[in-house]
Amino acid sequence: MRKIIVVGSGVIGLGCALFFALEGERVQVITRNPEEPASWVAGGMLAPFSEELEGELFQFSYESLKEYPEFIRFLEEASKKRVDFREGGIYRLVLKGEEEVLERSRAYARAGYGVEWVEPWSYLSEEVLSVVHYKEEAWVDTESLMDALFSALRRLGVNFTIDNIKGLVMEGKEVKNLRGNASDYRGDFYLFAPGAWARELFDLPVYPVKGQAIKVKGADLERVHYSSSSYLIPRMGYLYIGATSEEVGFTPGNTLEGLRRLCEMAMRVVPSLGESSLMGMLYGYRPTTPDGKPIFEVGENYLILTGHHRNGILHTPMTAKLALDYLKGSRNKFLEAFSKDRFLKKT
Ligand SMILES: Cc1cc2nc3c(=O)[nH]c(=O)nc-3n(C[C@H](O)[C@H](O)[C@H](O)COP(=O)(O)OP(=O)(O)OC[C@H]3O[C@@H](n4cnc5c(N)ncnc54)[C@H](O)[C@@H]3O)c2cc1C
Repeated sequence: MRKIIVVGSGVIGLGCALFFALEGERVQVITRNPEEPASWVAGGMLAPFSEELEGELFQFSYESLKEYPEFIRFLEEASKKRVDFREGGIYRLVLKGEEEVLERSRAYARAGYGVEWVEPWSYLSEEVLSVVHYKEEAWVDTESLMDALFSALRRLGVNFTIDNIKGLVMEGKEVKNLRGNASDYRGDFYLFAPGAWARELFDLPVYPVKGQAIKVKGADLERVHYSSSSYLIPRMGYLYIGATSEEVGFTPGNTLEGLRRLCEMAMRVVPSLGESSLMGMLYGYRPTTPDGKPIFEVGENYLILTGHHRNGILHTPMTAKLALDYLKGSRNKFLEAFSKDRFLKKT
């Protein structure tokens, strides 16, 4: 049995740790702060169509979406907890002047994906021209997802260590051990999933894009309402409204300006949301790359998986599958597609 060290306790690190542990590997997760990850605050939309992803990023995302029901099934079994995962599609609201969104939905339909068009309901503002129902999309409450991942890993005997990894001791292309604030760590294989903080450890073009979101009470929607202005996500007992997109480094906290924008953007599509009461505010840092695609870096005895930007929750099953395949000796095509070499080639 090998000892695998996973650095990072976001959805990517924990998802990979789960796949390794279920395979019978000995896993240690090292994280400097289990509450720090973007993964706890994400909206949890699994929405490659609404996000209008293209090319390899669309393919990777779509394959991951298709893996989700199975991923949730074995996560619930391993954790003995229920995950609030909802299928049946997402409503993409088309605002006035956004005819290209409708055109794209027709292209998806022509390609054979599940798309239908519905008349806007009376509670939507006059700015909403049309509603596209992307029937294959889904969403997951990320708090219940993260909670189940932690529970499953504990039940499977995974060891959790709180420490800040400051550096790697390398011998050629192999990681010999990790230097932490509290201790050094040695394993047979290392999986790095440090999210937006990747640059602290590696020479990779990853930077944070801050997102603020709010939770409100008193609004009841059947499905996610996604628009270019905001997204409204129904969860058990409240509505999640997201999200800002700010290049302000790791500036902490929610701001009044963020709150104003979120409220305005949400009321622009559903005016009655003005009556809802504010329950809470959240913020986190998307791990972003210059082209918005993930970065997968392969070493002799390690993998770096980061840069999932706006879609890390969606990408979790495929990313974990690809990591497990690699450990078993096979290379998924997406390892090459999302290698950091794509940035070297351009310079
Ligand atoms: C407001 C908002 C809304 C979002 N909505 C969606 C959505 O609807 N759908 C979707 O798919 N995605 C969404 N995302 C994106 C998604 O949250 C991220 O892509 C995903 O969470 C990234 O996961 P990760 O595991 O790579 O990083 P994180 O979740 O950030 O985890 C990184 C972990 O690494 C640890 N770490 C970093 N450096 C070190 C170190 N040196 N030593 C020890 N530990 C370290 C951190 O403490 C943390 O535990 C959203 C993001 C935000 C902010």
